[in-house]
Amino acid sequence: MKYIEEYRRAESVQAVVEAIRRRATHPWVLMEICGGQTHSIVRHGIDQLLPPDLELVHGPGCPVCVTPLELVDKALAIASRPEVIFTSYGDMLRVPGSGRDLFTVRAAGGDVRVVYTPLDAVRLAQENPEREVVFFAIGFETTAPANAMSAWQARRLGLRNFSLLVSHVRVPPAMHAILGSPLNRVQAFLAAGHVCAVMGYHEYPPIAEQYRVPIVVTGFEPLDIVRGIYRAVLQLERGQALAENAYRRAVRFEGNRPAQELIQQTFEACDRAWRGIGVIPQSGWRLREEFAGFDAERRFDVAAIRPQESPQCISGLILQGQRKPHDCGAFGTACTPEHPLGATMVSSEGACTAYYRYGREPAPVGATAEVGP
Ligand code: SF4
Repeated sequence: MKYIEEYRRAESVQAVVEAIRRRATHPWVLMEICGGQTHSIVRHGIDQLLPPDLELVHGPGCPVCVTPLELVDKALAIASRPEVIFTSYGDMLRVPGSGRDLFTVRAAGGDVRVVYTPLDAVRLAQENPEREVVFFAIGFETTAPANAMSAWQARRLGLRNFSLLVSHVRVPPAMHAILGSPLNRVQAFLAAGHVCAVMGYHEYPPIAEQYRVPIVVTGFEPLDIVRGIYRAVLQLERGQALAENAYRRAVRFEGNRPAQELIQQTFEACDRAWRGIGVIPQSGWRLREEFAGFDAERRFDVAAIRPQESPQCISGLILQGQRKPHDCGAFGTACTPEHPLGATMVSSEGACTAYYRYGREPAPVGATAEVGP
């Protein structure tokens, strides 16, 4: 398949890995932002192919993982109401709140439905004028345009029974939070290619300059990832700190301007809690005042919900690159993908899930790395 198979060829990946080995003369710590990249790195054993002094740490770019427990509990409370049709992408249904998940709510009689786009939820609202239809609008910049479009479509149709439970987060403030921490270990970022396809990477040069870190826009296939690592290592070895695009087939500097305008017209920046990390200033989007009627948190009385995270969980440190999943005492015992305790085990894109699924505990010694589909 074009644009897939040529980016998974083992010999192409090996050639770039050899180039990395030749160029890397110092120990470096690189963070891939996106959970999809984490999954690809662990699945294909890319981290095990790299020189031992080149460390990859796993960033906060899994949207399911960073959706706060508080918001999951609010979703459960709303979905349990008899007048509500609660809609979501499928991956949020098994994310546990404080005591149950959306599957449990559905089993108990709640009307919880999987949709493939928020516009499906708008259509449901049209077809069910006597019911309240709520869409669980989580995610990074990537999903924001479609969610914004659903609010505009609902307004255009004059719907009064459609709302969004919004938990949008943004990458640049998370980068500031990680790099500004006194415990920061990250020396270069692999930026998330799909986020940059929407937003471009014009926000990154000031961050690279302020903290003296290379930021390389990187794709998701094995060859994309090793090319991103290679470009980051080249910059580090040269003492450069630039925002660079290693995913040119999908990303332009300015990004998708119409999508950005739609986001700006619909959402405004706000402080946002990230699961496992806490509140990051101005790191989220909420609906603008003119769309307040479509805000599920205002429509339903859920403000008082304040759950507690598991005290065993160190996912906040993992999401900031300070620890690895196997540093957690609960990994693979008290905490598994079937019974997750924390953020990075709740989603298939979470770092703990990837380590668990691909057998990274105990850390394999002399393991043979797999490259290829
Ligand atoms: S293994 Fe579970 S409890 Fe430990 S850090 Fe990962 S998600 Fe948290």
